[in-house]
Amino acid sequence: MKPFPSAEMRAATAGKRSKVAPPEMKPPHSAETTRAGRVALVGRPNVGKSTLLNSLLGEAIAIISPHPQTTRETVRGVLTKGPTQYVLLDTPGLHAPRTQLGKRMNAAARQAARDADVVVFLVEAPRDGQGAQSYEADRTVMAELPQRPTVLAINKVDRLKDKANLLPMMAAFSEGHEFAATIPLSAKRLDGVSQLLDEVRALLPEQPLLFEADTLSDQPVRFFVAEFVREQVLRHVKQEVPHGVAVIVERFDESGDKPRIEVAIHVAREAHKKIVIGAGGQMLKSIGSAARARVEEMLERKVHLQIWVRATPGWMDDPARLRDLGFGEGQDS
Ligand code: GDP
Ligand code: MG
Repeated sequence: MKPFPSAEMRAATAGKRSKVAPPEMKPPHSAETTRAGRVALVGRPNVGKSTLLNSLLGEAIAIISPHPQTTRETVRGVLTKGPTQYVLLDTPGLHAPRTQLGKRMNAAARQAARDADVVVFLVEAPRDGQGAQSYEADRTVMAELPQRPTVLAINKVDRLKDKANLLPMMAAFSEGHEFAATIPLSAKRLDGVSQLLDEVRALLPEQPLLFEADTLSDQPVRFFVAEFVREQVLRHVKQEVPHGVAVIVERFDESGDKPRIEVAIHVAREAHKKIVIGAGGQMLKSIGSAARARVEEMLERKVHLQIWVRATPGWMDDPARLRDLGFGEGQDS
């Protein structure tokens, strides 16, 4: 990624992509109309929404893990392909919430779907040998999809030897909802993703690009710093610790030659604090250096990253804490 000029620390932009001329500078004979809009990736937890976002962007901006509820807030990625701009919204998986945090995550996903121009409803293919299924959790999500042009995307087809096994699933879903298209794909192996983009393009409104063509995300660098630290906590510590982890950037000071970033990791229990810090601080050290590498890669410059660990019991159910930690009001369930 290209470095963030200090004044532009607010938006993450990708320098790896070639910068193309903004639409008004395009030659007048450009035949294809420009289409742009918001595309919400919606589905239950773990179907591969974040993997699909990263695959489409060609950059790992969203955290992926085998655990459900890895994505806490909507992650926005911008993909510009010629005359088409997809503002991709990777949403938290819709689930039956057990905490205030869970309710807010669901609310964020529903909001993103309502605000989108196009919805991609993502489900996962059955594994080989799996018999008739009810797809109950997927159907629950499908029942509340907003009235928006929607594409059904069936992910993880790479783990299916016989594609005919998809047919009962496709039939079950098409009964319950009107889809503009159904696309089997593998987000991991990049199979079927260009077909998905073609179908989505056809559903996007004709309008000028919403962001500069080389924008990767319009979310602030602070957001990604917090996410990259949380990602490393997820990778380094197991069991129930990650579920109760929240990360907040407390200071982002660019006045020196290296940005100084101070981050707090909040954990749900005093005992978790010990685990995250580790014997002699070793665990926190590895988390910190891995996260710093990710941040430096994104910013293309060296940074100071200082991390504290705080035990904040009950934050997932405390409205004031949730607000402090950046989770919006969630009246939804
Ligand atoms: P999300 O909760 O919907 O955002 O799902 P993630 O993107 O975090 O992925 C959940 C799990 O599914 C991870 O372990 C991914 O590696 C895995 N996964 C995602 N896409 C694919 C795919 O196309 N094929 C296979 N086999 N696994 C995938
Ligand atoms: Mg996710």
